[in-house]
Amino acid sequence: MTAITRFAPSPTGYLHLGHAASALFSFKQSGPHGRFLLRIEDIDQTRCRAEYLDAIYQDLAWLGLEWEEPVRVQSDHFSDYQNVLDRLTDMGLLYPCFCTRKDIQAEVAQIGNAPHGPDGALYPGTCRACSAKERRDRIAAGESYALRLDMTAAVGRVGRELVWFDRAAGRQIATPEIFGDVVLARKETPTSYHLSVTHDDHLQGISLVTRGEDLFFASHLHRLLQEVLGYDVPEYHHHGLLTGPDGKRFAKRDKSKTLRSMREEGLEPSDVIAMTDLV
Ligand code: GLU
Repeated sequence: MTAITRFAPSPTGYLHLGHAASALFSFKQSGPHGRFLLRIEDIDQTRCRAEYLDAIYQDLAWLGLEWEEPVRVQSDHFSDYQNVLDRLTDMGLLYPCFCTRKDIQAEVAQIGNAPHGPDGALYPGTCRACSAKERRDRIAAGESYALRLDMTAAVGRVGRELVWFDRAAGRQIATPEIFGDVVLARKETPTSYHLSVTHDDHLQGISLVTRGEDLFFASHLHRLLQEVLGYDVPEYHHHGLLTGPDGKRFAKRDKSKTLRSMREEGLEPSDVIAMTDLV
């Protein structure tokens, strides 16, 4: 079986063993005649650092991975994401949200039993109710805002059940509603993970999206965005997450487990590869 797969790290820290496992998994899933792409997901410019970016290239090459050039670096493509946002705005599926985190917390606390999704409490919809005039006035006054997806409108526009297929978990009926009115462009970043990843996977012709099972639910939302935007639907394979001897997930903050430190301790790529089998 051949596929076009990708590994899409964010340069917000050094790669750890879990990343190595995920990258190798993606590479293997592309098959002997497939294509393997590397994509740098650095839209959050406040958290990304050039030294981590360099380290990604070095560490993956050290592991023996080869990827196609040029590498797509998301921060070079903010205008692409803006175009996608404009399309969604033209469809009437986005609205500006002026709420601060605090406003939302207060509102959610008031509701009491507020519904929760994969990313926490669902947005209570405060700014969805703003009139066109209020929106215009607040934007003209320089208030900062995020752009949220009007979930009910988006699901209504599609008007039918959406499915997607995960190689590990099987056929899935998409339930994007679990995210509520999710943010698609942040106040401080003119896009979001969900928007850029869906766009780039389509643009790059990814036929099999592999990533950790911690992102399984995101695919429900991505499937909706694909449908609304007329994008191809890839297959998915959400893999298990590598855990340490304590049963906990590898995390970037756990410095001792970075590929860099393992290399400095004298480990060979084959030693690392032996520690990374995933399903
Ligand atoms: N950039 C994401 C991360 O580092 C991966 C996103 C994906 O594979 O869809 O967690």
